[in-house]
Amino acid sequence: MISTSRIKSIKAREILDSRGNPTVACRVTLQSGATAEAKVPSGASTGVHEALELRDGGKRYFGKGVLKAVKNVNTVIAPKLRGKDATKQQKLDQLMLDLDGTPNKAKLGANAILAVSLALAQAAALSRKQPLWKSLRQTFEFKQTASLPVPTMNVLNGGAHANWALDVQECMIVPRVRGMAERVRAGSEVFHLLAKLLKKKGFTTTVGDEGGYAPKLKNVEAGFQLLMDAIKKAGYRPGTDIALATDVASSEFYDKRNKVYHMKTEGKKYTWKQLQKRYLEWQKKFPLISIEDPFHEDDWEAWKQSLSVLKKKSVIVGDDFFVTNVERLQRGIEEKAANAILIKLNQIGSLSETVAAINMAHRAKFAVSVSHRSGETADTTIADLAVAAGAEFIKTGSLSRSDRVEKYNRLMAIEMEMR
Ligand code: PGA
Ligand code: ZN
Repeated sequence: MISTSRIKSIKAREILDSRGNPTVACRVTLQSGATAEAKVPSGASTGVHEALELRDGGKRYFGKGVLKAVKNVNTVIAPKLRGKDATKQQKLDQLMLDLDGTPNKAKLGANAILAVSLALAQAAALSRKQPLWKSLRQTFEFKQTASLPVPTMNVLNGGAHANWALDVQECMIVPRVRGMAERVRAGSEVFHLLAKLLKKKGFTTTVGDEGGYAPKLKNVEAGFQLLMDAIKKAGYRPGTDIALATDVASSEFYDKRNKVYHMKTEGKKYTWKQLQKRYLEWQKKFPLISIEDPFHEDDWEAWKQSLSVLKKKSVIVGDDFFVTNVERLQRGIEEKAANAILIKLNQIGSLSETVAAINMAHRAKFAVSVSHRSGETADTTIADLAVAAGAEFIKTGSLSRSDRVEKYNRLMAIEMEMR
């Protein structure tokens, strides 16, 4: 008998991401004939504790080719998974982890394993004839109820994503109006008014890696102020309808030798204590509800000494700090170093491990923000995952470029599916 969810074949291939660099796509075909596909993203400001993204080296694509990862899927993983039930996600993820056998997926590559892991989830949804978010809930039995996340939209790009136009990597708007479609609308309206304001002031409106504008501003506060002005001009109440958030991505400008944070664009150096003070000033001036990676990924002292001070007004989000890794998260919970986690599938490299991190975070009453990478594809899995897991936030870039906008479009589709 032909089972609807048994795997007939798994095939990976090399494709391009939104920056034009190679990444892995994977197609799973079931015995029923149904075909599902997933594509993995790739970061630029990657944390040192992330799982290994396997790249070929050599001349091809300046060393960034992923043919080794593709080959690992097609010759190592595929033969082991053929004939198995695609809905047994946790079992199949574990099988791949065992095949790899390293702590950071150095042998097969996190990009290889994740491509298969996500394609399996899509295939399971097809075989169950369910939208992905529903199927994910069946697979993982999340305790949290399904819900639409609040989007944090990166409309001003800086740091490594925009040639250091700003010292912080991301200035985000956070529309908290009712309903996903209205949140997307609010974000888009502010985004377009922001362009008008920038043009009037003589700034460029070209965009960075995540589709947000990348003007060279005098300082970070000038960025926040522009967002406030655009929000007001669009007819929304700053703080009430639309709040602000930032990803400082401070590991990118930490001077390890001298233990100082060197904001290169502004030309300023800070100890962690001085930087904490600056964050407090931001909080005083702006409705800043979320600060991501305020300190270096291994500056535990700074994180621990800052949570109680900063959490009154903002959630403190660990991205490079936690790298979606339950061991680092466990330590962060025990040592009270943060109260929110950014979730990136490819930091850890399988769907099951990602869900384990989400569940651990929710058990500890942490806020969860499911995130894209700066190098993205048309894959919209993170929208479904955020809803399935009842994540408080989703971070998926600006209101331009299909690699970002398709996630918002998917969220609006899910809003319909949930009715
Ligand atoms: P990355 O940036 O994908 O380049 O790591 C995103 C982030 O830091 O949140
Ligand atoms: Zn980040």
